[in-house]
Amino acid sequence: MKYFDRSNIASWFVVFLTFVIFPFHSVTYAQKDEITSEDWPVGVIARYDDHGAGIPLETALKMGVSAIQLKAPFPDHRTKRDAKIILDKVSKAGVQITSMQSGFTNESYKTIPIVRETVGLIPQKTRNERIEQFKSVCDFARELNLNIVCFHIGFVPHDSQDPDYIDVIKMTQSICDYAKGKGQRIHLETGQEPGDVLLRFIEDVDRDNLFINFDPANMILYGCDDPIITLKKVGKYVKSCHCKDALWADHSQDSDSQTTKKRGLDWGTEVPFGQGDVNAELFLQTLKEIGFKGALIVERENKHQPEKQQQEAKDAVVLIEQLKAKMFNDNISQH
Ligand code: MG
Repeated sequence: MKYFDRSNIASWFVVFLTFVIFPFHSVTYAQKDEITSEDWPVGVIARYDDHGAGIPLETALKMGVSAIQLKAPFPDHRTKRDAKIILDKVSKAGVQITSMQSGFTNESYKTIPIVRETVGLIPQKTRNERIEQFKSVCDFARELNLNIVCFHIGFVPHDSQDPDYIDVIKMTQSICDYAKGKGQRIHLETGQEPGDVLLRFIEDVDRDNLFINFDPANMILYGCDDPIITLKKVGKYVKSCHCKDALWADHSQDSDSQTTKKRGLDWGTEVPFGQGDVNAELFLQTLKEIGFKGALIVERENKHQPEKQQQEAKDAVVLIEQLKAKMFNDNISQH
């Protein structure tokens, strides 16, 4: 051969690049580019009992969605028998449960300061008992063959010099290790932290089964950061998401016109997906850009108006299918 000399190491190097490195490199890139609409099943949050703001399981299974994220039921309903009932229902409906969403008794989302005091594993008064509750949710998720448990951990101390920061890191490591023993990942729901704080926290916890359930509306509701910029920033950790929308506090209509809501101090207003400040199309485009593969789970929290909640969730599913069709040049799925 004119160009290949067996005795020349440079020739062997060219062969190595051509037949080993280049094909591997191409496959790696192709995988990132090969996101298709099938990688994004569309679903809703469903609840088996009254725990949480999801749509009742029976109703959700009749909505024509292909996926649900299941809210963890109350402790009394986390039995093998309940798991079997749920598995039978979803199997008959041909719907996939993608993940479990944990929560705790006595949490309150009334105001942002009350969230700080009552939500997740950060409040010290309830931390130890809730760690045990969280483990029981992991156990129940295992009964349902689920490998992902999502939840709001609470307000992680934003200052890494905070005296509680190290304890929160250790606590998170311990629940990650518990979940890992069950073959599970933990996805932290976004909202209470700006992107930089969340990123630093995940890297400080340093566990390979800790990821993010990205909820763009929560960034707006808590007034903590721009959802699209944050999604790009933390993208490599985003393994599940909520399609939820909201108006910034200082854009929101308040029933008391004398009151001016303040971003970060007062709640923004949750609205149907596609009608808020998230920019639904840009959100989906950004998910594609970061290489996200997973379910697009619609979340709508107006549980006390069940018919409205279900209709708005259905409308959101249709909107997402339309946006997907536009992005992937597919025919629109029928729902
Ligand atoms: Mg959410």
